[in-house]
Amino acid sequence: MPPIYQTTTYAQKSPGVHQGYEYSRSHNPTRTRLEENLASLENCKYALVTSSGVSAEALIMHSLKPGSTIVCGDDVYGGTYRLFTTVFHEFHQFIFIDTTDKVLVEKTLKENNVDLMWIETPTNPMLKITDLKSISTIAKKYKVKTVVDNTFMSPIFQNPTSFGIDVVLHSMTKFINGHSDVVGGCITLNSKKDYEKLWKLQNSIGPTQSPFDSWLVLRGIKTLNIRMKAHEKNAIEIAKYLEGHSKIEKVIYPGLKSHPQHKLAKKQMTGFGGMITFFLKGDIKKSKKFLSSVKIFSLAESLGGVESLIEHPAIMTHASIPKKVREEIGIHDNLIRISVGIEDIDDLLKDLECALNKV
Ligand SMILES: *Cc1c(COP(=O)(O)O)cnc(C)c1O
Repeated sequence: MPPIYQTTTYAQKSPGVHQGYEYSRSHNPTRTRLEENLASLENCKYALVTSSGVSAEALIMHSLKPGSTIVCGDDVYGGTYRLFTTVFHEFHQFIFIDTTDKVLVEKTLKENNVDLMWIETPTNPMLKITDLKSISTIAKKYKVKTVVDNTFMSPIFQNPTSFGIDVVLHSMTKFINGHSDVVGGCITLNSKKDYEKLWKLQNSIGPTQSPFDSWLVLRGIKTLNIRMKAHEKNAIEIAKYLEGHSKIEKVIYPGLKSHPQHKLAKKQMTGFGGMITFFLKGDIKKSKKFLSSVKIFSLAESLGGVESLIEHPAIMTHASIPKKVREEIGIHDNLIRISVGIEDIDDLLKDLECALNKV
């Protein structure tokens, strides 16, 4: 096992002659091991490990020249939306569109002088899927760089650079670490120039990860492959169960044939993941009753851990998005999101059954 290099500084042989490491904001051997691991998982040459998913996003925003135009998916993670619309809107211009609509993407890139496209696929919480090959082809035509937030799929189920995407980002807080005990982020990419620019920004601004957290993530990654498969196996069963239940209006899961982009999901992903979104029949009162009745699912924000979580996006994860915008995207008051863990499937199904019976 790699040691935890719990040190801030490194002895030098003579002034300026160091042994590869000088100061841990710049580099740390445990973090380097994690970076090499992540680059390899995403089939990329370079990786940067950051203090959180959003700090990785902030570094990318800082790397753009002031006044840049960014086209961003209209259904991205709530914290990404908040970062762009309340922090970086002072430096850049953001255009939010449905990136699953190829015609709209082409029109937007044609009519605006766009610098970067920000894509999340599947989206959170609507699980809409963007065709990565088509979008990267359109983006290349207009010389627009592309970033994919690959948090929901993890490197096990989707590798965006194999479809021509330039930069991949993860919140390692979720599936990559997988044990709900570390906040972290990463960026993987193939351009040396862009990597060096991002590293310089990270070293100057400072959102690095601690050696201990890097070590925990390295340990978590050892089971990433089997965890993803276990999440998916449980999720398929739960999605099917919910779809057949009389108290459920609609279920959204890329692995269901009823998902409008099921075919595309099969084409660009090697698994469907552990996230399910569904609409309960009824109003907010019923949603609240259901959410406070589950016992094995923990009512909590976040996702991607080995334990099952359930949440109400309109009140919890997506509360920072204005109600009007939320409703337009489809995040209504009866929408519930679950992150399916790897517990025994019978326990999970029984828990949902009991809670639905109380509604
Ligand atoms: C959680 C999350 C983020 C932000 O990551 P943090 O580690 O919480 O800063 C970004 N994108 C997606 C899709 C997420 O789920």
